[in-house]
Amino acid sequence: MEAAASPPVEPVELECRLCLATLRDEAEGLEAQLCFPCNCRAPVHHGCLLQWQRAQEQFLEQHSFDEAQARMNTCEVCGARLMLGEARPKPQLGAAVCRAQGGTGKVALRRIPTLSRATRNFSDFSAADGQKLDVLEQDATGEFFRVRAVRAARYRGEGITAVAEGWIRHVYLDWQCESTQTQSWLPPPRMPPAFPGEGAERVEALSAAETAPDSTLRDHDER
Ligand SMILES: [Zn+2]
Ligand SMILES: [Zn+2]
Repeated sequence: MEAAASPPVEPVELECRLCLATLRDEAEGLEAQLCFPCNCRAPVHHGCLLQWQRAQEQFLEQHSFDEAQARMNTCEVCGARLMLGEARPKPQLGAAVCRAQGGTGKVALRRIPTLSRATRNFSDFSAADGQKLDVLEQDATGEFFRVRAVRAARYRGEGITAVAEGWIRHVYLDWQCESTQTQSWLPPPRMPPAFPGEGAERVEALSAAETAPDSTLRDHDER
């Protein structure tokens, strides 16, 4: 069962970043294995991660189920979705455009994918309306996307940052492709749009864009 056939390599002592041990006490099989469920370079025991996830769920369930789900499935350190034993699904499209839908003209990225508006969930950075975002991955519910913004404005305070990463709700993203194709894999919004009526108008605008393509290009003259 154990893979002993590989050539003798100088063993690297990897430690679990949660229990700080190489071996997990009283654990065997899958639970004792070190794994890399996110983008962090330090591994974690499969069993330690499951224990941490259960703790998150118990602690947060009383506040918000969505937030508990989001937290237990996101690495607190690197912000990536935690994937245990499954391949990280790639987003169907690699880029999208931020649509702030009024307000301040900016959308703050979040450290974890959550519907909670508690300030601790927002990252320090925000994407500007019309800003192109690299799409890195989608959360388990499909509601959120983890994006990378180049030269994003700071959410609090002055200045910009070279690169910012975080989660954003899909209602704030415009996909640069045919709307029918996009609609099939986007989940329905779980909360109403930030400004009433905007969602319905946007769907109509997307269909109308096929007959009036120039209206969709007005924000993209920087090519
Ligand atoms: Zn451990
Ligand atoms: Zn991580």
